[in-house]
Amino acid sequence: MDDCIFCKIARHEIPSTVVYEDETVIAFEDTNPQVPVHTLIIPKEHYASIASNVPESLLGHIIAVSARVAEIKGVDKTGYRLTTNVGDDGRQTVMHLHVHILGGAQMPIRMGPAD
Ligand code: 5GP
Ligand code: ZN
Repeated sequence: MDDCIFCKIARHEIPSTVVYEDETVIAFEDTNPQVPVHTLIIPKEHYASIASNVPESLLGHIIAVSARVAEIKGVDKTGYRLTTNVGDDGRQTVMHLHVHILGGAQMPIRMGPAD
């Protein structure tokens, strides 16, 4: 995807603060952190979201790497939240599959609709 910002990050065409990288995924810091630890993990290959027929092995790898990233970021003991937004109602703004690792603060309990 030529004009996908996360594809460009995956190809190192635009800068990011990389936390972890291997052949198939890259994790980098969110530029607009919502909590003290806010890191994103993406597959290097473009998929719009988890609803885009992503191979299960790749999904599993992303989740496994999220645990590794949580260790690197020092939130593995205190806890964290994984979130992946899908589509309009999910408030997805970047249409390249990404998992948010959110930590360093207590997450809100409430998970209902926005006011
Ligand atoms: P979404 O709402 O799609 O689940 O989350 C997209 C996330 O990507 C947002 O938290 C936003 O701050 C982050 N983001 C958007 N553009 C960039 C960028 O160019 N670089 C980085 N590192 N994060 C970005
Ligand atoms: Zn992309």
